[in-house]
Amino acid sequence: MSKSVPITVAHGDGIGPEIMAATLHILKAAGANLDIETIDIGEKVYLAGNSSGIEPSAWDSLRRTRVFLKAPITTPQGGGYKSLNVTVRKTLGLYANVRPCVSYHPFVETKHPNMDVVIVRENEEDLYAGIEHRQTQQVYQCLKLISRPGSEKIVRYAFEYARRNNRKKVTCFTKDNIMKLTDGLFHKVFDEIAAEYSDIENEHWIVDIGAAKLADTPEAFDVIVMPNLYGDVLSDVAAQIAGSVGLAGSANIGEHVSMFEAIHGSAPRRAGQNLANPSGLLLGAVMMLVHIGETNVAELVHNAWLRTIEDGIHTYDIYEEGHSKQKVGTKEFADAVAERVGQKPEKLKAASYKSSAETSQKPAAATQARPAAKKDLVGVDVFLDWTKGSANDLGNSLSKLNGDGVKLEMMSNRGVKVWPGGHAETFCSDHWRCRFLAEADGAKVSHPQIVSLLNRVAAAGFDFIKTENLYNFDGERGYSLDQGA
Ligand code: NAD
Repeated sequence: MSKSVPITVAHGDGIGPEIMAATLHILKAAGANLDIETIDIGEKVYLAGNSSGIEPSAWDSLRRTRVFLKAPITTPQGGGYKSLNVTVRKTLGLYANVRPCVSYHPFVETKHPNMDVVIVRENEEDLYAGIEHRQTQQVYQCLKLISRPGSEKIVRYAFEYARRNNRKKVTCFTKDNIMKLTDGLFHKVFDEIAAEYSDIENEHWIVDIGAAKLADTPEAFDVIVMPNLYGDVLSDVAAQIAGSVGLAGSANIGEHVSMFEAIHGSAPRRAGQNLANPSGLLLGAVMMLVHIGETNVAELVHNAWLRTIEDGIHTYDIYEEGHSKQKVGTKEFADAVAERVGQKPEKLKAASYKSSAETSQKPAAATQARPAAKKDLVGVDVFLDWTKGSANDLGNSLSKLNGDGVKLEMMSNRGVKVWPGGHAETFCSDHWRCRFLAEADGAKVSHPQIVSLLNRVAAAGFDFIKTENLYNFDGERGYSLDQGA
């Protein structure tokens, strides 16, 4: 018998303990050789006063086993509790969230009988860095951060996933027609890395029309890679239109540790009644088995589950007259799957995982380091909280602070240019971006010049709320122009 593989298991809250018991029962019946360490996370830990929902000792287990099978947990309402999922993802660097969304027509109701899409969502960056500020009476800000290494890792992961899982195409969704620098970088990295995978088709869609197409014609997609926010929203949409969010599992892959779970939550109203569908967690566990190289067991479990679904043995959430034959509880569903270990589906496509550790995808290697670009400081955007008049009034006052080699070039309000030459119709909030560049065209400015400008701005009584330095990288502008500029 092969050596048992250590994994960490958390039974979670609400329906968590029931669906985890069902999942472990099926894994055991299929002969999974696991050495399970159990940790406490979630409600109990939160209510014991730990706002992160996870005990410090639990991290030791995760670092030891590097594999985490996690049932859903309940985040208590109100009062400073941090999302455990976000904490675990960020702390352990789980950069890739992988969600296969498959329809099981005609056994589970869906409008999309041929859907088989895998969403690969970047899991650490974008607006989820959680860097937010209230800057003025009227304006709040959330920083969207996209990094080259972060984009390279996730895009490469998506192509490697496609290659290893015999997928034909990787699609990228961004909004780079608007966010030319952040989403633009993600798209550019996608194009660069796609060129290394000539065996796999690639395409890019603007996320709005891409999302519409995904909801309407999901068969047109295979693997889709996206930045965090779009991936968060669209992976739920994709799981739901495939049949039910209750059927989808997900993998959160990191360089050191990986976490596997259902995509749904702890459904507290269904807890303790032997009602919940364990399929999402079970399919998460199948991804875990592939990840740790237990591909034979993964195949046995997945096929037994497909056969159970095909035999019409369904929990309440997917039970439907006409499609289903028998309505069962969590335990009976698990027994039905366990009994079918060794069987394959007759109509649905059987699962097949290549029988080697090759399929257990290791995190993609980082792309080679690039030479540092030449970085020139060419100006500064000074943001003001100001309500004392019109754009022209502000422009005239600020122009008086020109000097020491820098001058006011333009001002915008919420991204729309309002000075010089603004339009009377443009609504102006109390949040102004005032761009100062070197007096001489194309010249550089220095940090001391910026500091002395800020001193003049403060001495003139303005409340500057933040500054952003303006850089060129190898002569290429590293900041956006304005609408109307
Ligand atoms: P939810 O996914 O728990 O439940 C929504 C509804 O979907 C349920 O009322 C139920 O009708 C149905 N449902 C979900 N899973 C099911 C299953 N396995 N079988 C049958 N029906 C199922 O979402 P929610 O009600 O918004 O959140 C409940 C709690 O779960 C909250 O505390 C939330 O913070 C937490 N949550 C945890 C995770 C996680 O741990 N990964 C994810 C999402 C939400």
